[in-house]
Amino acid sequence: MRRVIIAGNWKMYKTPTESINFVKELVEKEKKYDNRDVLICPPFTSLYPVSEILRNSSIKLGAQNVFFEDVGPYTGEISPFMLKDIGVEYVICGHSERRNIFGETDEIINKKVKRVVETGMKAILCVGEKLEQRENGETFKVVENQIKKSLEKIDNIENVVIAYEPVWAIGTGKTALPEQAEEVHIFIRELISKIYNKDIAENLIIIYGGSVKPENIDQLMKEKDIDGVLVGGACLQIDSFLRIIDYRG
Ligand code: PEP
Repeated sequence: MRRVIIAGNWKMYKTPTESINFVKELVEKEKKYDNRDVLICPPFTSLYPVSEILRNSSIKLGAQNVFFEDVGPYTGEISPFMLKDIGVEYVICGHSERRNIFGETDEIINKKVKRVVETGMKAILCVGEKLEQRENGETFKVVENQIKKSLEKIDNIENVVIAYEPVWAIGTGKTALPEQAEEVHIFIRELISKIYNKDIAENLIIIYGGSVKPENIDQLMKEKDIDGVLVGGACLQIDSFLRIIDYRG
């Protein structure tokens, strides 16, 4: 049975002070679930104070990005070891904003995923097509290409979560229909089965991201191959994030 992951990506929102207040309230109000992992991914500056608050909670800590070297003269970068040391368990790799604004390629993302899993954390590998690519019928081809390149020479795939995030649905308010998302999730599972094997594919956690909100979470989570969600905008308010965590699937 695959575990459900509900992950909140804060992007570049919340100062350390705002983060501390938010997480204190979240921890106070959270319910415990046996079958789901809840994860928050604050900006780098908030990770350490948030990790201290999460120490006695079941909520896990994630980072939004990482560099692929361990130490060295890389001004402005943060290494996997630094994240691991403060209790980060998951790292988002290849978010479409990193790909499209900061020029991250599949080759760079591959190095990041590799170092994250080698360091003993889990990588959330984001893939997804742009609107034009969907309209041209290229969704499967784009997703296949991103997955094959980003997972090249990565064996410990059990420490990878794949997030299908159609770019046209991120931050736009346009969610993929549950059946549109499910179709791509099934495609990803079949692809992983071909690259690795059926067992690995069956156990792979595949989550959906793109304008997930309290109004659509229940429908999305009814799909068999949607194992959770990566939430941007709607995780920034306690009540909407709590409602998403408390989905009825
Ligand atoms: C995201 O940041 O990964 C995301 C899916 O954002 P939003 O929920 O705002 O579309």
